Amino acid sequence: MSFLSETARYIFERHSLETIARVCVVVPSRRAVYFFKQELASLSDRPFLAPEVVAMDDFILQRAEVEEIDPVSLLFELYDTFKTIDPHLDFDRFTSWAPVVLRDFDQIDLYDSNAKAVFSWVEAEKAIERWKIDTTIAEDSFADKYFRLFENLLGVYDQLKARLLEKKLAYRGMAYRKVAEEVETIFLDKPGHAFHYFLGFNALSQSEERILRKLVSLNKAEMLWDADVFYLRNQHEAGRFVRKYLTDAELSRGDWNKRFRNYREFPQVQTVPSDLLTQPKNFISIGVPNATMQPKVAAHLMAQWEHGTEKTKGYQPPHTALVLGDENLLMPVLSSIPDSYDDFNVTMGVSLRNSLLYSLVESWFELQRNVVEFRRKEGQGMVAIPKFSYKHITKILHHPFIQKYWMENEGSFRTLLRTLRDENRTFADEKEIKELGGNEPLINTLFTRWDNDSGRATRQMYRLIDLLRPLYVDKDAIETEYLYEFYTILKRLERVLAERRQPVSIKSYRRFLLELLRQTKIPFSGEPAAPLQIMGMLETRCLDFERVIILSVNEGTLPTGKKQNSLIPFDAACEFGLPTYMDADAVMSYHFFRLLQRAKEVIFLHTVPAGDGAKAEPSRFLLQLEYELGEQNKQAKLQKKRVEFGSERSLEEELPVLRITKNEQIQREILQSLANRGLYATHLNMYYQCSLKYYFKRIAGVAEEEELSTTLEANDFGTWVHEVLERIDREMIERNVRVYERADYERFTQQIPSRLEAVFQEKFPGQVMNEGQNLLLYNLAKRNLRNYFQLRMDELDAGYRVEVLAPEQKLVATLAYGEGTVQVAGKIDRLERVNDVIRIVDYKTGKVDAKNLDLKVNQDEWQPMFLTNQNWDVMRQLWLYKYLVLKQNDKRVGGVELSATQIVQPGMISFRNLAAGFMAQENLRFRPDETPETFLEDSEAMLTQFIDELLDASRAFEQTVDRSHCEYCDYARICGRAN
Ligand code: SF4
Repeated sequence: MSFLSETARYIFERHSLETIARVCVVVPSRRAVYFFKQELASLSDRPFLAPEVVAMDDFILQRAEVEEIDPVSLLFELYDTFKTIDPHLDFDRFTSWAPVVLRDFDQIDLYDSNAKAVFSWVEAEKAIERWKIDTTIAEDSFADKYFRLFENLLGVYDQLKARLLEKKLAYRGMAYRKVAEEVETIFLDKPGHAFHYFLGFNALSQSEERILRKLVSLNKAEMLWDADVFYLRNQHEAGRFVRKYLTDAELSRGDWNKRFRNYREFPQVQTVPSDLLTQPKNFISIGVPNATMQPKVAAHLMAQWEHGTEKTKGYQPPHTALVLGDENLLMPVLSSIPDSYDDFNVTMGVSLRNSLLYSLVESWFELQRNVVEFRRKEGQGMVAIPKFSYKHITKILHHPFIQKYWMENEGSFRTLLRTLRDENRTFADEKEIKELGGNEPLINTLFTRWDNDSGRATRQMYRLIDLLRPLYVDKDAIETEYLYEFYTILKRLERVLAERRQPVSIKSYRRFLLELLRQTKIPFSGEPAAPLQIMGMLETRCLDFERVIILSVNEGTLPTGKKQNSLIPFDAACEFGLPTYMDADAVMSYHFFRLLQRAKEVIFLHTVPAGDGAKAEPSRFLLQLEYELGEQNKQAKLQKKRVEFGSERSLEEELPVLRITKNEQIQREILQSLANRGLYATHLNMYYQCSLKYYFKRIAGVAEEEELSTTLEANDFGTWVHEVLERIDREMIERNVRVYERADYERFTQQIPSRLEAVFQEKFPGQVMNEGQNLLLYNLAKRNLRNYFQLRMDELDAGYRVEVLAPEQKLVATLAYGEGTVQVAGKIDRLERVNDVIRIVDYKTGKVDAKNLDLKVNQDEWQPMFLTNQNWDVMRQLWLYKYLVLKQNDKRVGGVELSATQIVQPGMISFRNLAAGFMAQENLRFRPDETPETFLEDSEAMLTQFIDELLDASRAFEQTVDRSHCEYCDYARICGRAN
């Protein structure tokens, strides 16, 4: 029996049908309200007046007789309050820490802490005294500003609350504290409910505890706890709070709680709930390679439950919950739900933060910030002229959220971009763009300058909504919802700004708007009693399901671990009874194990470590299940499974949120790009990692993010080392020396510092080589080159004769495709002849193992997946190098004529694995009796297959399912996949 059905029966039996209406039942969440009412209704065959059933937050707001203030108004109220205390407060700086301040105020009130004591604990003098440091804090230093903020906080806190109360408004914690402070007046002086039941609570805040304790002591309330002996015993963290309440004379009062008495004596004492220790449980943990594959696997499992294996045949899933440990997975989950589950209920919200609309708005602000600086005619100083840069123009016009619009209004968009590109215009002003775009409405909207006028920005945003809304109406509900929420936020922001006398700058407007978008969640609502319930962990409070799938059961998510987003330091939080991350972990542990109490079958999905990322560690809760529960309940074994990221496309067929379909124009552009710019191995590999990234980079021409950096990037380091080696080869070839002696290598070794320095000065002007990270890289480059020359000397000692045929060079081959041609291109680092073999050498500054060059399977197996296998990037690169070398029209590379029997061997030298020497790729043969001609023929068939796929209109360019590729992707912000 579920907790809600048991508590409903308990309450029902204690009151007559006539008096039960005078009871108030308080539950932790609104979702539990509905289910409790259903359970209660099922107990009588006669109609009766139901008790009030209410969620805790609503109960408190009603009793406090205040309304909860919305986040926009609250931020402005806070800002106005701060301004009365610090007139010089900078709005931009304010918006960066205001949400944290508000959260801290909320916690101080919820936990009934002494605000004065908290803030003065953190003040500078007290901190110095406590930390026993002998120092003074420099005026205007970071520390000075930090402590000054605290000096002001108490005044702000008091004033803000007074302002809100005057308007009968409150933030959540404030309402709780108000009820706690006035509990007797509220519940004794005013007529209300005769009795209250509080169901299934766990970690009470101090304000809550004060309210409940008082109500119980006045004989007006009873707490109905929910717990299992498994975690009540043995100091298990899940039972930390309930254990405390059960020893509290007031909070454990009442017949319901008698069941927990003497729980330590279990199994001699049988009354205590013990489902976790006594009932059969089917627990399965499934490791998957990445987070976004979890919804796909969950969908697969649900489909199995739906259609039934023998065990579950005919099963209608009335009690199934899909619980998201990481609520960011909501969209992928919704896209993956099997069609058969058309009846499900989602009450959590999807955050606008991760939406494409958010990234569009961000890109728009970025575009509007564009100015170009020119030197004045007189030659003194610079003048800034507002012009849009080509990079930002293409970025916004290609933004995925507005792609649908261009499909129907393509002409002006193409003309604008083509003209800018053909005329090589790096910058264009508003008037030019509008003219080139033929005054097309969306182009006019996006490129109307806001200057510093937030009102103008708002008007253009409304126009954008008007233009985009018809595209999504009736087609894609979520985008319509995004636009609607955006509209609502703009309206509220406009109203609040209108009430202010001071205009806000665009900079502040941006921070504010983006903060509001970040805070906004789009609520879903469905049929509350639907067989499938989708929810976050917090929403599971009080609810029980027979079957549960929990996603993201990883350390860092469930539980979240050490995250303290607060201005109040950890020591102050401990001192004043404010919650810390340790409490948060105990709370999460309770939700987790409580959810398992009455469930029969639970599947835990988690990502598995792919490298050394701590986030991929399975949650410790799973270890506790395995070792602690599994030991005590032999019917509750945890089975472990793992889904491998195979080469099968079936695993990748997850519905990505974002896709670009290929129309004729895009197909033309693909062919143009291949014909003019060429097909490189890196781009082929990029396509299979993420076809959308390929689209952004190779077709749409969206520039990658450029950051001015004072340190070398990973690519730069490779370029530096390669360039030194290339210059040596060129110099030697010019002197007609192609076979190097030991003395040559010794000389090269001596020259390493000067050669590195010369290349550095030339390639990275403005950077300093001898400090910081660059110095570390310099030392690494020296060591790499020294070891490399040593490797070459060892080859000499072993009797190898190495002849340099060609230094680094770009090779291009023309491939016939359809009625036209395609360029295949690549840059080889060195061509050398070692004894009778011609080696194509690729230097790698990163680590490559010989096993990366081994296909490991026979030809029948590797050939069908040669293009798509994610682990064969290196293999494909070497394959194309070999193709390019053999394809040279005159069959001469580096002055060498290639005969039909010549062995040409591509391979790598890895500077981080020099011990392996030259690692040759040996077993890539398309046929056992391969000749250069058949190799070329088979390679071209494969390249043609790739181009066919690239042009295939039925395969959209779409987001990758493997999020590891998004981590360092320059398009992550456009894609909404930035962290
Ligand atoms: S962020 Fe991820 S999904 Fe988006 S383009 Fe980059 S790799 Fe692809």
